[in-house]
Order: sequence, then structure tokens, then C-alpha cells
Amino acid sequence: MSVTTRFAPSPTGPLHLGHAFSALMAHDMAMANGGRFLLRFEDIDRQRSKPQWEQQIFDDLEWLGLTWETPVMRQSDRLPAYRTALQRLWKCGWLYPCTCTRRDIAQAASAPQERDPIHGPDGLIYPGTCRSWHDATGAAYSSTPMPEQTALRLHMETAARAVCDSRIDRPGGGTTMANFHEITDIQTLETRTVTFTPEELVREVGDVVLSRKDFLGSYHLSVVLDDAAQGITHVVRGQDLFEATKIHVVLQRLLGLATPDYHHHRLIRDDQGKRLAKRDDARAIAAYRADGATPSDIRRMVGL
Ligand code: GLU
Ligand code: ZN
Repeated sequence: MSVTTRFAPSPTGPLHLGHAFSALMAHDMAMANGGRFLLRFEDIDRQRSKPQWEQQIFDDLEWLGLTWETPVMRQSDRLPAYRTALQRLWKCGWLYPCTCTRRDIAQAASAPQERDPIHGPDGLIYPGTCRSWHDATGAAYSSTPMPEQTALRLHMETAARAVCDSRIDRPGGGTTMANFHEITDIQTLETRTVTFTPEELVREVGDVVLSRKDFLGSYHLSVVLDDAAQGITHVVRGQDLFEATKIHVVLQRLLGLATPDYHHHRLIRDDQGKRLAKRDDARAIAAYRADGATPSDIRRMVGL
């Protein structure tokens, strides 16, 4: 089996133990299988991404003993690919513009006539305020040019149905729309199948943002396109992204891309059981290094 893994940090802060865990595991998985390990900077957020953090990430990974192929992919170089994919989704009628602010969304989601606000992978599930425009104009708008200085959302119901029509996954029929393979054993790469329905996607994920007002694309769009462009076969990342993977599978199917196998690893928590936040600089790999820790100490601390 060919194995290509990646580590895809955002250069917006120092690497902490959780990042080291992802990077080491992805690297080890590739090496154990004679595969490839790639690096990608998720620097689509130009405001928060800084060259000094990239340098720090290189230094930390090198210190941990990792090697990766060059050139390193940067999302900031990939805007033309993002635009092409968005235009394709737009033409198919799977996107609509959204002008809601965070406040609008919070208010609409908590309006008395609405159900209780529910959180999805991206925070509050979008209450659908701007969707009525899409639903009223139907297919007519998709022949108009795609607007760029506005947020674009995925019309999850239509998208899920489109994917559903072309593929019924459950043996013997049934309603399961899609699935992915979750690696349950990082040595043998054995997997279990995770399935989900269109109804679950609409209810628990909703109309996620695929392009932002201030920059073209979004995490969900770019991660899918970049993993495909880098030929990633096995994605290793934190459990916090498990639900988001369902979005990624929908996008892969809409765009005709292969779905890699995924391994969502346990999250590394601090002594109080809190998730390690990026800004918790005391837990940065650089801080452990400065304190005299060795790379094997780090491996031991994350349980590898
Ligand atoms: N840039 C993301 C992060 O640092 C990586 C997400 C992923 O691996 O898909 O959390
Ligand atoms: Zn809106």
C-alpha cells in the first residue's frame, strides 16, 4: 500500500505538544510503510500567519528529528485552485452568498421561534437567513458570475442530496449517504467505516462557509483541495476535526476527488484536562526545548 501523509500547521503561533503528536505520528506512519511525509503551511489567513512562526515550525520539526519533502506547499500560493473549485461549485448551484455577521447569526439562532442554538464543527449552525435567496432564485443565479468579496456558503441540503443521488453506500440500499475509513490501528492501518446521512449533515453541520469575505476559500475548501493536490492517502489529525471530516467527504464527492483514510488521534491535554491552546506558550515545544527536554522526552510525553 502506498502511504503519503502530511502535517499541515497554521503558522499563527508556536507548535505545542498536540502538534508534535500529529507530526510525529504522521511521519512515523509514512516511514513505517516506506511512504512519503509532506509538510504544508495552512497560511490562508494572511492576517494571522507570520514568517517567524514558519521558521519556528521548521526549527521545531527538525529538532524533533523529522524530515519532509520540498518544496513545502503554502495555501497562500493556491488561490487560483481555490477559485476554480469555488466556481465549479457555484455553477452547480451548491453555493450561495451570505452577508450575515457573527452577531446576526447568534441572534437568528437564538430567536424564540427557532430551535435552541446547536453547535456544529464551525460553531453555531448557520440558521439559514441568506439561504432563502438561493431557494427563491433557484438555479437562475448560478449562471451569474460568482461574487468574490462576500462569504459563500455550501447549501448543505442540495449538496448532500446531489452526493446522495449518485451513491448509496449501505450494502442492500438504505439511506446512508457517505462514509470514510477511520484508521483504528496505526501499525496495521486497519480501518473501521464511519457512515453518515444527509439528514445528519443538515442538522448537525449545516451550511458551512467555503469562501470568506476577506479571503478566497476557507479551511474546509482548502484542506480538501490541498490533500488531493499533494496526493495524501492517510490524514493524521486531532479528534477535534472528526466531525469536520464529514464536510470534507461531501466536498471530495462534489469535486470528484478521492477520500483518504483518516486517523483522528486523542487530544493532548494539560494537567487540568484542558485542551492545549496555541496561545499557551508555556506548553510550546520551544519552551520544552529551552528547558532542556530531548526529542525522546517529547515522544514520551505524548505517549509515543
Ligand atoms: N491547520 C490545521 C490545524 O493546525 C490542520 C488541520 C488538518 O490537519 O486538517 O489545526
Ligand atoms: Zn447570511
